[in-house]
Amino acid sequence: MNDDPLHGPLLAGDRRALARAITLVESTRPDHRVRAVALLDGLRAEGRQALRIGLSGTPGVGKSTFIEAFGTLLTEQGKRVAVLAVDPSSTRTGGSILGDKTRMERLSRDPRAFIRPSPSAAHLGGVARRSREAVALCEAAGFDVVLIETVGVGQSETMVAQMCDLFVLLLAPAGGDELQGVKRGIMEIADLILVNKADGELKSTATRTVADYAGALRLLRKRPQDPDGFPKALPVSALAEEGLARAWAEMQDLASWRREAGHWAENRAAQAAHWFTQEVREGLLARLTQDAETRARMADLARAVARGDRAPQAAAQEMLESLRGA
Ligand code: GDP
Repeated sequence: MNDDPLHGPLLAGDRRALARAITLVESTRPDHRVRAVALLDGLRAEGRQALRIGLSGTPGVGKSTFIEAFGTLLTEQGKRVAVLAVDPSSTRTGGSILGDKTRMERLSRDPRAFIRPSPSAAHLGGVARRSREAVALCEAAGFDVVLIETVGVGQSETMVAQMCDLFVLLLAPAGGDELQGVKRGIMEIADLILVNKADGELKSTATRTVADYAGALRLLRKRPQDPDGFPKALPVSALAEEGLARAWAEMQDLASWRREAGHWAENRAAQAAHWFTQEVREGLLARLTQDAETRARMADLARAVARGDRAPQAAAQEMLESLRGA
């Protein structure tokens, strides 16, 4: 199980080995898959955990600028930081490339940081799997913090929240009307709302926006995984590097509270169970679409149903029975 050549270098924190291991988990080749699963299983036994922080925001809100500044703040404290991007729609969103190294120049040159852009577009399930496996690899490689960046496009946030300990929403200063633009579901998964660009002319608007969101957050149902005062809204300026230390302190406070209250472990256990179910479902679906014999049987039965020769229920039953022994 531990005889994979990447196992040792990964545990030693070798970034090249990490990059290669992520490439391995992204591969759809069956032999790569077997190797990836064994590698992940061997690494899991080490039990290393990072603080996993999900970060979401629409293009232009300042995600790259924030990650660059925030990541540097952490590495200056001696922490090792990994940045992963999750972009299910495409690798390009509104002109910005998630996790693009040229947009995080300082951090990409930082020996304590590791940045990995989103893989090219795949179906949502594939992106989800690759991302959570990449997170696990970063943890095994001894990173203290894993930042998982995504764009504000509905489904991807929910997916990222499923692999994080904390979820941070980055917003721009805006008038009260635009508050409605943030979907309720996203507000509900946010632990921290950071109103970015709280500098220069935008500073007073940002202060108002923070107050608006703080008000909106108070109206949400109290969640068991939150201590008093959370979820919270704060102003930051990624560009001026203001408010970042405060944001980090809040994240740490929340994380330690959750650890002590048992919510951290509970959340990780629930996530593991969720991913297990997901993996089984996807595996079953993959068998239906990838295996030629299974596909042919499906097509035959579908035709029989269409002709009226078979009842849909009975045909489905037969199909499921045939998968049993497969
Ligand atoms: P992303 O698309 O979310 O990654 O956003 P970027 O980080 O690329 O930032 C988009 C634009 O907003 C860039 O022109 C940044 O310089 C600018 N920006 C980012 N953060 C701040 C900030 O804190 N204050 C101000 N004034 N501009 C910012």
